[in-house]
Amino acid sequence: MNAKPATQRKQVDFLIVGQGLAGTFLARALIERGKRVLVVDDDQRGSSSRVAAGLLNPVTGMRLRLTQGTGELLANSKKLFARLAQEHGREVFTPMPIRRLYASEKERALKSKRESGSEYAALVSADEPAGAPQAATGVPLADAQGSFVISGGGWVDLPLLLDLEAAWLRAHGALVSGVVSAASLRPDGATGVFWNDWHATGGVVFCNGWLAGREPCWEWLPWQPAKGEIIDCELTAETPAASAVAAAAVSAVAAPPPVSLETAPWILNRGGWAIPLGGGRWRSGSTWDWQRLDDTPTPEAGELLRQRLRGFFNPQTAFERCGLREDIVADARGGFVKAHLAVRRTKHPAADAITASANRAESKAVCGLTPPLRVSIVRHRAGVRPCVLGNEPFCGTHPHQPWLHLFGGLGPKGTFWGPTCAATLAALLCERTPLPPRFDLRRKAESGIRGATAGNPKNGS
Ligand SMILES: Cc1cc2nc3c(=O)[nH]c(=O)nc-3n(C[C@H](O)[C@H](O)[C@H](O)COP(=O)(O)OP(=O)(O)OC[C@H]3O[C@@H](n4cnc5c(N)ncnc54)[C@H](O)[C@@H]3O)c2cc1C
Repeated sequence: MNAKPATQRKQVDFLIVGQGLAGTFLARALIERGKRVLVVDDDQRGSSSRVAAGLLNPVTGMRLRLTQGTGELLANSKKLFARLAQEHGREVFTPMPIRRLYASEKERALKSKRESGSEYAALVSADEPAGAPQAATGVPLADAQGSFVISGGGWVDLPLLLDLEAAWLRAHGALVSGVVSAASLRPDGATGVFWNDWHATGGVVFCNGWLAGREPCWEWLPWQPAKGEIIDCELTAETPAASAVAAAAVSAVAAPPPVSLETAPWILNRGGWAIPLGGGRWRSGSTWDWQRLDDTPTPEAGELLRQRLRGFFNPQTAFERCGLREDIVADARGGFVKAHLAVRRTKHPAADAITASANRAESKAVCGLTPPLRVSIVRHRAGVRPCVLGNEPFCGTHPHQPWLHLFGGLGPKGTFWGPTCAATLAALLCERTPLPPRFDLRRKAESGIRGATAGNPKNGS
């Protein structure tokens, strides 16, 4: 490993392990400060960043919390995405409001309590009653408890961003394939390390996601890795609205325009989220599993996400859009015949068209008794999030081995924390600017946690 004479070694300032979001953002921040870096990635075998949906959502979780400093964190992220778009000539960030559908009255009360804060009020809209968004846009939401809109967010095309940045790093001779473990490193006696043919005078930065927690030098930090799965789907309204009977029903009255599930003007959020990708394609996520830490998609998670996506919508049949839903729902409990009779009783102009149908299944569908949404999975992925206790990332230098650094714990919010943490870690590594205590991994070491000195690489201090 260390056999070559020193003169034949290639020298950089920092070795970075992993080209996920953490490694990518940090490499750029260091290169832009004039540092030479070598990023070593094991060809993204365990990349959470490649799986992630890339949501940037300022108000998250069941408790609708706003993280301290949200405005600045959001601004830093968006500034970096805009700069990357300009440099690469490709947009990587799609700004999009997030419509949060209330799951309960308790949630509504929480929101009204929190919105007294001015930062919060700047990001969330007033409550909207059930049906209001649909009236404006035609998207049929299942928003029985109402909803509100979160602004300032959107989603990042992470595979695109990582590919563009990988090409940029390669052009700087700064990205190679390989596997780095703490055991494969040798300290140089000062602040640097040797790895294969390389000498990194400023040391090594572990940016390898949840797997950093498997390294003895970092295992003392409070890692809580969590597997997550997401699906991409084709969402189509099934045929009733397009059937001959429904068409007749619609043409018999001045019905509102047909509903479109092709896209929507918002990301939807309730428990999980759904991102409209356009052209009838939606991304739905995500699941949480702290036991099975692998990147294998499971049928159970796929089905749960499919149902969750379907649950965001309340598609109306053509007949419902004629304003007859109340009659049908009230009388339909006895099944098709009753519903059919209810239709006839309405004396609505559309009723003739419905009852003229000899096709029981079609009438039933038009009456709203057939689930009219089809969700077909076209892609299903899984990965492990580098979550940590307390939800704020861990950055900095090992308390006892100055050649080891870490940029980890981005958890479920790499797009939110990543750019800010990369900049602050680069300032520490290059200019010795102290890290904000909230990101400093010493916050854990100073609490006297067992093992902060354990697991030295070879030749440890
Ligand atoms: C299902 C799911 C949905 C998510 N949704 C979102 C979202 O909407 N928004 C959001 O902000 N975040 C989301 N996340 C979280 C996001 O993925 C992470 O916060 C972020 O990507 C972590 O980046 P990272 O660079 O720390 O780790 P990773 O992305 O895991 O990158 C680590 C890299 O290091 C490489 N590597 C590992 N070990 C070695 C080694 N020994 N040697 C060399 N290379 C190595 C890996 O192959 C990988 O390329 C989601 C995650 C999942 C799983």
